[in-house]
Amino acid sequence: MVSVSKQRAVFIYTPELEKYPYPAESPFNTTRAGRTRQVLNSMGLLSGENISETAQEAADRVTLKKFHTARYLHALKDSNDGKFVADAMNMGIGTLDCPVFKGMYEYSALACGATLLGAKLIIEGKTDAAFNPAGGLHHAGPEKAAGFCYMNDNALGCLALAEAGKKVLYLDVDVHHGDGVQEAFYDRSDVMTISFHQSGRTLFPGTGFEDDIGAGEGKGYCVNVPLPVGTFDEAYMKVYREISEPLIAAYRPDVIVFELGADGLAGDPLANLYLTNNIYAEIVHSLLEFKKPILMTGGGGYDMDNTVRAWSLAWSVLSGADKGVEENIGLGGVMLQSTDWQGGLRDRVLPVSKARKDAVVPALDATIEKIKANVFAIHGL
Ligand SMILES: [Zn+2]
Repeated sequence: MVSVSKQRAVFIYTPELEKYPYPAESPFNTTRAGRTRQVLNSMGLLSGENISETAQEAADRVTLKKFHTARYLHALKDSNDGKFVADAMNMGIGTLDCPVFKGMYEYSALACGATLLGAKLIIEGKTDAAFNPAGGLHHAGPEKAAGFCYMNDNALGCLALAEAGKKVLYLDVDVHHGDGVQEAFYDRSDVMTISFHQSGRTLFPGTGFEDDIGAGEGKGYCVNVPLPVGTFDEAYMKVYREISEPLIAAYRPDVIVFELGADGLAGDPLANLYLTNNIYAEIVHSLLEFKKPILMTGGGGYDMDNTVRAWSLAWSVLSGADKGVEENIGLGGVMLQSTDWQGGLRDRVLPVSKARKDAVVPALDATIEKIKANVFAIHGL
């Protein structure tokens, strides 16, 4: 058993990542991982008895082929190297979201390498928690680039853990549906996927509804929680506690893979939820209660400061530095555009109008009932 007080946590990062920026016009900023490391280091949150840092190597071709096809990896590498690939566009390579640029292959392989290293350290019993802020590329498919993602580190990490005989719970709180990971395990029960995301009716990739619950052996082991525009902290935590907590408890995973895209935060330029980072802290606290190893990755998050602060806060909880909301009154703020974090990493609580409550709460209550009807009985709930 893992004791929370002696939680060992490893932060996985290499400055090598900074060598491969996405084109300037892409909202996907690869410096977020390095900025997070910098903030945590300056706050003294990367050192301590059970805390360590390590650098990853890029995932090699053989490993990447456990999820991606050889044809796709060739197309990606050749496009990366400036060669013309006739069917690249058919695989999503060279689109507005996934442009061709020198370094897209290397960056993606490094991001995958970090998630795979976290999985390895957990399999070998060398850590209780790992965080790869450059990971969370959950949209990529076996032969598909999509949504800024060329290679799917989350799917590869879950596969490695499952291959080692672990029962895996994959939780995805990125504001976009974790479609690539869902598809990888749709007919399997040894990797359960739960995705909380802004509804596909109003946001990319347009999938992930209550009735998508897995197939065959995997029926009931895929759970989707589509959220209405404007979902706020209290409503989010209600659905989280009613759906996620009982399902994880019933599933009894050996390990938890947690995709923490921070694009659900209020003010994110690509999405329309109204969350503060306190949600992410609460969720990590909740996950720690299960006393299982946690492999956490980054993901989306297009307001740089808010994303870096959210990931820093999540790490402080994961590594045992944050003890709970009472001791850490939020003085920063998602809507304040503040870069002065002397008030701490937590956001101020945002006011919620009656109109917002009326728009969100009934819709979410209906979603909760639908999901319960669809999957709870399968898990004896
Ligand atoms: Zn996202």
